[in-house]
Order: sequence, then structure tokens, then C-alpha cells
Amino acid sequence: MTTIALLTRHGKEAAVRSHLLQAGYVVHTVDEFDTDTLGTFTGEFARKGSQIDAAQIKARKATELSGSRYGLGSEGSFGPDPFVGLTAWAREVLVWWDAQEQRPVVAFTQGAATNYEQRTITTWEQAREFAIEVGFPSHGMVVGKPGQIGFSKDCADWQALEHQVGIALKSGPLWLETDMRAHRNPTRMAMIALCAQELSRLLQCPCPSCQCPGYGEISPITGAVCESCGFVTAAVRAKKTTCNACGYSEEVVVQASVSAARCEHCNP
Ligand SMILES: [Zn+2]
Ligand SMILES: [Zn+2]
Repeated sequence: MTTIALLTRHGKEAAVRSHLLQAGYVVHTVDEFDTDTLGTFTGEFARKGSQIDAAQIKARKATELSGSRYGLGSEGSFGPDPFVGLTAWAREVLVWWDAQEQRPVVAFTQGAATNYEQRTITTWEQAREFAIEVGFPSHGMVVGKPGQIGFSKDCADWQALEHQVGIALKSGPLWLETDMRAHRNPTRMAMIALCAQELSRLLQCPCPSCQCPGYGEISPITGAVCESCGFVTAAVRAKKTTCNACGYSEEVVVQASVSAARCEHCNP
């Protein structure tokens, strides 16, 4: 068994341990570094760079602090869904980092399974209603914004929440939001587990050329041809699998042609 260091103070090892074990890695938590300084959901610290960059920085940091060759970093991002923008959407990234080869393997999961939400309220009754909707107290809530009177991420039960909302409401309408930190959000923890499953799958895929793990990051290639008129459409034609260690890549054709219904020329 190989050890892999995970940088977290938010209990993420519970979501990743069993999946990483399947790929041959024993997860060791590194908690002497405060990952909040790399960015928080509530904005005390702004995240620098992309979601993948952030996860990779954590994974590298884990190897530096632990001295182990392999590190693991996790980063979530939440917002409106990419289709109509009306429902909440979660994106999780896990980066495996090999400090010896200076090489990452990136796993990605996304979906609508999240309680991510915000609301401005003016009464305790409205706060209570919102809290019930977002799954409090098994899911955490953030009261107010950083720097405001009454700001808190630490209400563990209804009594504490009512007390905190009471303090914060004295200075006017109050912003409430779901706590997206993994240890206070079991729905997010489940999404991180799915991402760990995907990472484990990738780590068990060796490159056919150099045998390095993590082969199989797929990017779709468009350009399937219309069966009826021969127009090159925007539909996916093939999937590309590449190895980021040696550069070997394969293209697998998904569909060479599509029906006229999916053709921008026949069916605009
Ligand atoms: Zn390779
Ligand atoms: Zn056509």
C-alpha cells in the first residue's frame, strides 16, 4: 500500500478513504495547514485561479507538509446549473499529485445534488423556514456576511441559530446561506465521495504506452456527419483519451454520423 496525503480540516477523508483504498492508496490527513487561507466560500479569503488550480495547490501542499510522494486536494464550486440557470449546481474536483513526477490526475463530478442556497430575511420565522428547507441542523448555515455583527458559521442547533439570528437582525435585514464546508454539509460530502470514486477509477487505468496511472481523461471531439446531407455537425464524433505523463493518446469514434434531426443544415 502507498500512502497519500490529504490536506483538509473539514473531515473530507471520510468521503475519499474507501475509494482511494481500492486504487491502492491509504489516505493520511494533513491538518496543520489552514486551507481556508486558500479561499473560503463565504469570501473572507478569495480563491486564486481556477477550481482545478485550487485543488492542485492543496494536493502539492499536502506532499510538501507530509513528505509523501502523493498528495490529494479537493475543491468544490457552487452556482446556477449550466442548462437553464434556475437550480443549484455542484462541481467537485479532486486532484491526485505525484510530487516526484510533478504530475496531476484530475477527477471531476457535477450535478444537482446540493442544498446550495442564499436568502435575505427580516424575521426569525423566515429564517426558520429557510433553515428547514436547507436541511439544518444536519447541514450547517452561515448567518450574515463576514465582518457584520452577528456573523457566524458555528450554530450547531436550533437554539444557537435563533440566538444568533436575533443578534444579527438588530442591524436590519439579514443574509443567510448554506454552509458549503464539507464537514457541515453531508450532501456535499456525498458528492466528494462520487468524485473520489471517479478518481479511483482513473488511478486504476494505466496508460497503454507508459503504464502511468490516470489514463482516461476524456475530451469530446465534435464533427459527426449528417446521414442525410453530409454536413459536419456540432454533435460529438469521437472521444479522446490522453496520457499526461507521456503524451500518448487515442481517439475512439462514438458515432461517425447522426440523423438529419440533429443536423444544423437539415433541421436548423
Ligand atoms: Zn503514458
Ligand atoms: Zn443534414
